[in-house]
Amino acid sequence: MNMYVKGAIAVIAALVICTGCGGNKEGAAPSPSPSSGQTEASPMTKSASDASKSSPSAESTAASSTKPGASVKPTATAKATSSPSSHSNTGAKNDAVQVVAKPESITVLVNKQNSLPDSYEPADLVYPDVPFVFKEKIEKRKMRKEAASALEKLFAGAEKDGIYLAGVSAYRSYATQKSVFQRYVAKDGEEKAKTYSAVPGTSEHETGLAIDVSGSDGKCAAEDCFGGTKEAKWLEQHAAEYGFIIRYPKGKDAITGYQYEPWHIRFVGTNIAKEIHDKGITLEEYFNAVPVTKQ
Ligand SMILES: [Zn+2]
Repeated sequence: MNMYVKGAIAVIAALVICTGCGGNKEGAAPSPSPSSGQTEASPMTKSASDASKSSPSAESTAASSTKPGASVKPTATAKATSSPSSHSNTGAKNDAVQVVAKPESITVLVNKQNSLPDSYEPADLVYPDVPFVFKEKIEKRKMRKEAASALEKLFAGAEKDGIYLAGVSAYRSYATQKSVFQRYVAKDGEEKAKTYSAVPGTSEHETGLAIDVSGSDGKCAAEDCFGGTKEAKWLEQHAAEYGFIIRYPKGKDAITGYQYEPWHIRFVGTNIAKEIHDKGITLEEYFNAVPVTKQ
């Protein structure tokens, strides 16, 4: 475990991840034998954040968003796997987490109740030709081909309107998410870690279809202060034209499981994106999916 932790720390330091991002944060808990009562007792629903970034403050911010009363609602199809290395714990502790049937679908719904298979890795990851807040060609710069292409168009469209965006964090592998989560578990314990970090398999960043963006200056990257900026407003208004949605809209945290994340956009294709935007709904509502949290 220590080795894992050390490794994870190193990875994190290098990655600055937004764990929360969309579902990225909850944990694959390392502890195989959790004490029982937490199953329904403490689902932590909302973490916020993509912010896991490496800044310490991000964590506290996210953590504060935990909603005590919320309870994850198990679904009939829930699948609690029990393999030690995966999100089994997730299933066991955080109620029902079911594994999605078509992880490669452009419209796949991934959240705190719907997980990608442990082994899933998108087959068509590429490096979108857009600026990021870092220079390295590393994992978090990747996106699936169709999403990357749409992102390039979105960035170009923004520039025409005088809005200069930069990528902060896109794809994140299961292994990376696992390292991140385990590092937080080692630091704060599983229950607390789950309030601000996604269980491996449940982060939308693992789909290769989501990305956190910021202004080109990198300020407020995946942080609450991004809200209200001209970049955030532009995304709110125009992302759907390029097939992206603001995945965690304001006031929808009880449904998505995440607080408002104006920086986290998810590719779903233009038709669905426009409908979701026009109706002011979430991906969960679009699919009539069970709310992640209930109030
Ligand atoms: Zn994100």
